[in-house]
Amino acid sequence: MSASADSASAFIDLHSHTDASDGSLTPAELIALATRTGLAALSITDHDTFAGYDVALPLARAAGLDLVRGIELNSRLLVDAAAQPRFVHVLVYFPSREPTLAFHNWLEEQRTDRRSRNEKLVKALQARGVAITLEEVEARGRSLAGRPHFARILLEKGYVTNFEDAFHKYLGEDAPSYVERDSSTTEEVIELARQGGGIPVVAHPIRIGLARAVEHAVLPRFKEAGLVGLEVYHSDHPPALQEYYRALAGELDLLPTGGSDFHGKSVKPDIELGTGRAHNVRVPLEFLEGLRRFGR
Ligand code: AMP
Ligand code: ZN
Ligand code: FE
Ligand code: FE
Repeated sequence: MSASADSASAFIDLHSHTDASDGSLTPAELIALATRTGLAALSITDHDTFAGYDVALPLARAAGLDLVRGIELNSRLLVDAAAQPRFVHVLVYFPSREPTLAFHNWLEEQRTDRRSRNEKLVKALQARGVAITLEEVEARGRSLAGRPHFARILLEKGYVTNFEDAFHKYLGEDAPSYVERDSSTTEEVIELARQGGGIPVVAHPIRIGLARAVEHAVLPRFKEAGLVGLEVYHSDHPPALQEYYRALAGELDLLPTGGSDFHGKSVKPDIELGTGRAHNVRVPLEFLEGLRRFGR
């Protein structure tokens, strides 16, 4: 029984970021941390890029760590014509297949859209009297800079007193200087992911901000488009919510997944790799086995 006891206690993390997007650790530092933490497997899921994963892969192999290729994409959901759009993050995993060339090309377009959003956001902030330049932003996040990089600059220059405030006053959806990115619909992103050889999963569903009845109606729509999984365990999901999403995944025949959404000290520094916030995350190895079985 010792082998099965080992695999039952083995835990993994399927959601993490490096400094190739808005995390603070280099790929090498993240692999070293994952190894020290004793993770049985890790997925790097940077926003819009595989660059961190590509650097990490040989390092993970050398360290004997099972590294899964992943990515986190933004998408737009229109619940009804009157409501303002919601944003759904879609994680896409490639546990046993490589992404197609078409998928890589589509990602390149996403990165172009991100850069043009960043240019517009700099202009919108300047119009509000904020002294900020694209060069400053890209010095931190290169061409893949995200709003957390903007938030850090606003904080350091004293425009806000904390990170959350930067989103409330300047960067978030309700701020006057908010700039929306051109995003595909959630169904389109799910279809592209499947065509690209990946396994799409809805990330941190609580953050979409839907009422339960609406969520219950929308997820089958996504499944119709090819959705495979639902992120059940996440640092933003307290235990009761994790149980709720685990049951919902079962009911809708979606594979459960989970991860901490670790970014290092740049975003939500209270989140730890593997264990989330105050140990509220523990993802069993069987979740990855489920993805692998699907991907074969
Ligand atoms: P971007 O992909 O550049 O639009 O930036 C989105 C990222 O900003 C998310 O993945 C979060 O890490 C972070 N973020 C978004 N909204 C907030 C918020 N209200 N407070 C803190 N971080 C946020
Ligand atoms: Zn992020
Ligand atoms: Fe996310
Ligand atoms: Fe994330």
